[in-house]
Amino acid sequence: MARVVVIGGGYGGITVAKGLDPIADVVLIEQKDQFVHHAGALRAAVDQVWEHAIFMPYTNLLARGEFIQGTVSRVDGTTVHVFGRDPIEADYVVLATGSTYPFPAKYSSSKTQVAKARLEQLHENLAGARSVMIVGGGTVGIELTGELANAYPDLEITIVEKADEILSTPGYTDELRAQIVEQLDELGVRVITGSELAFLPPHNVGQLGHFQVSTKNGDEVEGDIWFQCYGSRPNSGFLAGTGYEDALLPSGAIRMEPTLQITGHSNAYAVGDLTDVRESKRADAARQQARIVIANISSQIEGEEPDAVYQPTKEWVILPLGPNMGASQLLDADGSTRILGADQTAEIKGADLMVSVIRSQLNLP
Ligand SMILES: Cc1cc2nc3c(=O)[nH]c(=O)nc-3n(C[C@H](O)[C@H](O)[C@H](O)COP(=O)(O)OP(=O)(O)OC[C@H]3O[C@@H](n4cnc5c(N)ncnc54)[C@H](O)[C@@H]3O)c2cc1C
Repeated sequence: MARVVVIGGGYGGITVAKGLDPIADVVLIEQKDQFVHHAGALRAAVDQVWEHAIFMPYTNLLARGEFIQGTVSRVDGTTVHVFGRDPIEADYVVLATGSTYPFPAKYSSSKTQVAKARLEQLHENLAGARSVMIVGGGTVGIELTGELANAYPDLEITIVEKADEILSTPGYTDELRAQIVEQLDELGVRVITGSELAFLPPHNVGQLGHFQVSTKNGDEVEGDIWFQCYGSRPNSGFLAGTGYEDALLPSGAIRMEPTLQITGHSNAYAVGDLTDVRESKRADAARQQARIVIANISSQIEGEEPDAVYQPTKEWVILPLGPNMGASQLLDADGSTRILGADQTAEIKGADLMVSVIRSQLNLP
């Protein structure tokens, strides 16, 4: 049987691994001891129940294949090197190592216990804070604002966004922005746009400590805690100095063919945040890309050409502002855009944050 090594057990990696498990010898290598459901991470930043709910074991994912907890240090062709282990020879490799993001959106530690300890410290710090500054008014900054406003109604929150408007990613509509601006206003959030901070606060993100900063336009912001809600970077450092270096872009993303093969490597694929696919990075996109990779590796195993191609979609987003508010920009079948308000957004995502979908994917009750 062909051996497929999948590197990274995030949304894309688990989909590929589970999809190929019945027809190949799958090895899934993940540095973390549990799956982290990032879509719930911002609620976990303010809520003690969610602090546990976003971590889920990999134990039930594969019926036949093997899960290895380890960190990949290098990939040569289809030979995968894992720290502290013998190299693993594969017929196909799938890179699904995602991206990093500042805490509390993502955690750098591979140990659940360490991530939970950091979250508990954050809860304590937030309980002692009167004002918070969010730097970055994209989806993560807005969603974190909603969670903070819901959990700590007396907290004064300021968002600082250097672009002229929040949610400035091309493809988000004015109607979506208007809905969110109105709701932020209702929550009493101060929004400063069109100017970046002249300097950052002297404390680490999430740490309690009073500060005063100003924007280049002269707006003053005071706070007790701040969060950096920008600065995602693909996890591709382990490809430096390998045969894959030619396919690496300066951003750290990896250059792909429409079949999701890595450019210049017919038996190596990539999915998710690591790729240079031109659309905003979403778990849903990583899962859709995984389906193309499953089809193409299945074809190659059968001795056929890998001819499934991935089509990036137009921009869409479901953006909760805490459990009861938010707005969404959805795509209809004909490609037109539809905006949903607070009630429908809460119904689709706000309350459960898709936990049940992910638990079912991991074969958990
Ligand atoms: C706060 C937040 C909320 C979000 N909400 C949504 C949402 O509601 N809906 C949505 O569609 N998207 C959402 N996203 C985006 C979504 O989380 C990402 O697009 C998604 O995680 C990408 O999946 P992935 O499989 O590429 O990578 P990831 O999910 O990042 O997984 C990559 C995995 O690879 C592992 N890894 C990295 N390097 C190595 C190595 N060298 N060796 C072994 N393992 C390694 C990592 O530990 C990680 O588990 C959100 C993102 C954030 C930060």
